[in-house]
Amino acid sequence: MPKKSVASALHLGASVRLSSRGVARLQGRHPWVYRSDIVEAKDVLPGATVRVLDSRGKFLGTALYSSSSQIAIRMISHGSVADLPALVAERIRAAIAYRKELVRNTDAYRIVFSEADFLPGLIVDRYNDVVTLQILTQAMDAAPVREAVLQTLREELQPAGIVERVDARIRELEQLPPLSSRLLWGEKSSTVIHMNGGHMNGGHMNGGHMSGRMTSGDESNAVRFHYDGFEGQKTGGFLDQRENYAAAAVYAHGEALDAFCYQGGFALHLATKCASVTGVDSSRPALEMAEKNALLNGRDLEWIEGNAFDLLREYAAGNRRYDTIVLDPPAFAKTKRDLEKALGGYKELNLRALKLLRPGGILVTCSCSFHVGASEFLGVVADAARDAHKSLRLVENRGAAKDHPILLNVPETSYLQCLILIVSD
Ligand code: SAH
Repeated sequence: MPKKSVASALHLGASVRLSSRGVARLQGRHPWVYRSDIVEAKDVLPGATVRVLDSRGKFLGTALYSSSSQIAIRMISHGSVADLPALVAERIRAAIAYRKELVRNTDAYRIVFSEADFLPGLIVDRYNDVVTLQILTQAMDAAPVREAVLQTLREELQPAGIVERVDARIRELEQLPPLSSRLLWGEKSSTVIHMNGGHMNGGHMNGGHMSGRMTSGDESNAVRFHYDGFEGQKTGGFLDQRENYAAAAVYAHGEALDAFCYQGGFALHLATKCASVTGVDSSRPALEMAEKNALLNGRDLEWIEGNAFDLLREYAAGNRRYDTIVLDPPAFAKTKRDLEKALGGYKELNLRALKLLRPGGILVTCSCSFHVGASEFLGVVADAARDAHKSLRLVENRGAAKDHPILLNVPETSYLQCLILIVSD
């Protein structure tokens, strides 16, 4: 199989023809065309770089082909591509340059976000001196492309270790041979990261600038987290919430509750401002890591293993009150079909939290369901406020951190909502 991918990645002659609906998608600058819109793909190998044509044979650009995904092609260029590994290397360098401009106060952030960085099927994250990558498509799995990715990351970032995190389910769906997560280069797979250091003391951490070797810059006020390349959910941390952690800390006060706290991302930032912080999560390993993170920061927080829905109801019934509550549940709507149920779930959760908040309290409420749009999420929180008979003032309407770019024509790149509200009672 790997041999076949090597050959296919370098085989540039193959072409696919699209239906008019497929052509319309590309003209709207969405990079995906579904299999049902491919009218001809003769002798195209898995992972091939293909020339894309309309039904009359007019050249539209170059795409990466998958023989198994419903998303049959992902555009990589609107021109010709003679050397895919070289193009991938160039795009990685551009993605790094973009972060150099826009990412501040952290040594942990996403370096490449797949389609949003014009590199469909590739995700790269930096965790201080450890870099992780994830390969999600046949084309990106080809040996020459992998080699270009590794070499570029090594040259540009000079990390102490590069870890490949394997999503076994995705490899199976892409009909790629199974692999285990492993160190691809260097020796280091775990480290300590620093977030929002400069923000809290009003300065800038140098860690955001990756010139030369990776340095962490001014870490004195940063919130620290342990990172292990072989543990945790997603790529291990929720980097997309990084700027929202700092924003939440600006308003947080009093007694705080971080429902769905995972390894303590919000909780540890709240602890810089609040008298007490309780984190709730249903995952024991996540809470064990959260406690280690608390120790690392010299903080004393309370962690509760349990179902946040039940706990919020119990607390409301027991007349418990909080000044700050963060809600960051897992995606309720994984598919469009789940939408109604998901909206109901978000409403219920927000309603329970609102019942617990004192006047002047802060609600930080998030949705990472792509299928729940920004206006729908606002609507659901407004419904909860109506049912709770409370007035909510929206102070910040936020999304993912800038290292998770949003392409307006690719709605899938915009999936995270984070609202910060004050209960005016
Ligand atoms: N706020 C976190 C990310 C949360 S991800 C951060 O910024 O790092 C969602 C978390 O919800 C996961 O840690 C998962 O273990 C937890 N979870 C899922 N269902 C839950 C439930 N019913 N009650 C409490 N926690 C739950």
